[in-house]
Amino acid sequence: MLISWLYPRYCELCHRQGESDLCPECAEGLERVPLPICLHCGSTVDGGEPDAHSCAQCRGRDFAFDFARSCCARTKQSVQLIYGLKYHRSNYLARPLAELLARLWDETPELADVKNWCLVPVPSERRHLLKRGYNQAEELARVLSSLRRLPMCFPLQRLRTKAESQTLLSAGERKRNALAAYSLCSSFASGKKRLPTPCAVIVDDVYTTGATAHACARLLKKLPGVQRVGVLTVMRAGRRKFV
Ligand SMILES: [Zn+2]
Ligand SMILES: [Zn+2]
Repeated sequence: MLISWLYPRYCELCHRQGESDLCPECAEGLERVPLPICLHCGSTVDGGEPDAHSCAQCRGRDFAFDFARSCCARTKQSVQLIYGLKYHRSNYLARPLAELLARLWDETPELADVKNWCLVPVPSERRHLLKRGYNQAEELARVLSSLRRLPMCFPLQRLRTKAESQTLLSAGERKRNALAAYSLCSSFASGKKRLPTPCAVIVDDVYTTGATAHACARLLKKLPGVQRVGVLTVMRAGRRKFV
């Protein structure tokens, strides 16, 4: 194609020239979240658990989302892609990563069997937005929205919090911070605006403890008419407990 001749693309991982920023071989080679996964939160269920489809993290916990799924496990390759998207102004990676999300969508009966979804990207803090120039979750959701022909919606806002980054915090601190860090936009809180569909999928780059997904889902479930809230992320980062 002329366009690929004029603007050659190189795979982010193997650097081979091709038609995508992530070649099919490298995309295929990304390690999936090891099976069996918990049907609720999408984490791997440890051997020895009494129920093969329910993990220890979910037992006795009350995640506000109905289910969460991730495309790949945390590996050197997936971290490189996420860091590229998040910290190196590489928003061109949103397309191949959203293509992974679209593939996961087809493989997830909870998503594929229901038609009336809208996509809600996890909002980012204003200072991060200014630094990066884009919100990586929104970039992913935007491409996924065009691939799946689904509406996008922005009912959530990220408030300014003290912690510089969630990365080094314990699970308990993450949960407290996350609940304080997000709120409904005033137009949605007042009822002036509504979600376009009764089912919403929260889109983000990484799922770590589920704290962010829980905080956002909890807010969405307060909106009138919202029936189901799912969570879709590219990478599943940790196995730390949600406390
Ligand atoms: Zn490659
Ligand atoms: Zn679980």
